[in-house]
Amino acid sequence: MRAKDHPDAEKVFKKLRKQMPTLSLDTVYRTLWVLNDLGVITTLGSSRERARFEGNLEHHHHFICTRCGLTSDFYSDELNALRVPDSLTEIGDVEQTHVEVRGTCKKCLKNVSKQIRSDKSTKQRSRK
Ligand SMILES: [Zn+2]
Ligand SMILES: [Zn+2]
Repeated sequence: MRAKDHPDAEKVFKKLRKQMPTLSLDTVYRTLWVLNDLGVITTLGSSRERARFEGNLEHHHHFICTRCGLTSDFYSDELNALRVPDSLTEIGDVEQTHVEVRGTCKKCLKNVSKQIRSDKSTKQRSRK
């Protein structure tokens, strides 16, 4: 529940195995789904395959880095109260509005600028 990086079962498994060497991935999967069914955690998206788990049950939104997949929580009263089109009732009942913002995280931005710099220096080198 403290994990802020929206891990999938494999990531949880890798983290826990250090403390519990006898732990199996299967146990992690089953436990995560039990916790999900109990409402202690929730999942991102709808697919049961490669689901990612969420310990933050407060109404929040996500920033997703399209380069590294980092998913960060953020809060906005404005977005919580976002009005959705009436036409959605034709699709189904709306329970909650969740906004997914996509972009490049700070870490990746740094790497991108580093890459550009090294690209420039290799070009300069090859010109010699
Ligand atoms: Zn990133
Ligand atoms: Zn989240």
